[in-house]
Amino acid sequence: MTRAWLGIGSNLGDRRAHLAAVLRELEARGIPVVGRSSLYETEPLHYLDQGWFLNAVVEVRAEDGPEALLRAAQEVEAARGRQREVHMGPRTADVDILIFGDRVLETPSLTLPHPRLAERLFALVPLLEIAPYATDPRTGLPWSLARDGLAGQPGQGLRVVAGPEEWGEGGA
Ligand code: AMP
Repeated sequence: MTRAWLGIGSNLGDRRAHLAAVLRELEARGIPVVGRSSLYETEPLHYLDQGWFLNAVVEVRAEDGPEALLRAAQEVEAARGRQREVHMGPRTADVDILIFGDRVLETPSLTLPHPRLAERLFALVPLLEIAPYATDPRTGLPWSLARDGLAGQPGQGLRVVAGPEEWGEGGA
């Protein structure tokens, strides 16, 4: 059993409903969600002609390896009708593996830790909300260093729109 942290996001349709459904879809695949961050509204990076995202990070327990978790994540994206027409563009639900225990991996389909985690406040801020002492297994350095380096940079705007108990089951 491995502790893993997933970054989830949506910027199309009923964004909160998509993220709540991601939690249910993970549980339905035998992946317990044991922690969740607040819900953040975040500015799109790279492809700017799209609406703001809702993002959160959840902690899950993985019984199987990281490839199995990636397959489940991709099934959950597909179940929410994700389309991939524009790279980095709008999506109903995006599910990324940010951290899988202390695994370091680089294969054609999976890089761990997530290759862009260190560049994204929308992932680092919710991650550190629920795992404040998480460290990069490649360097031993705390992820909070990366967050502190990005804080205040243009294009990295974000704000809390719901506390951890106010979304997902129970919340909207
Ligand atoms: P995206 O469209 O940004 O969700 O990227 C999806 C692609 O990134 C998939 O083809 C995955 O195989 C690949 N990928 C590599 N590392 C990861 C990771 N840590 N989590 C999720 N997807 C990953």
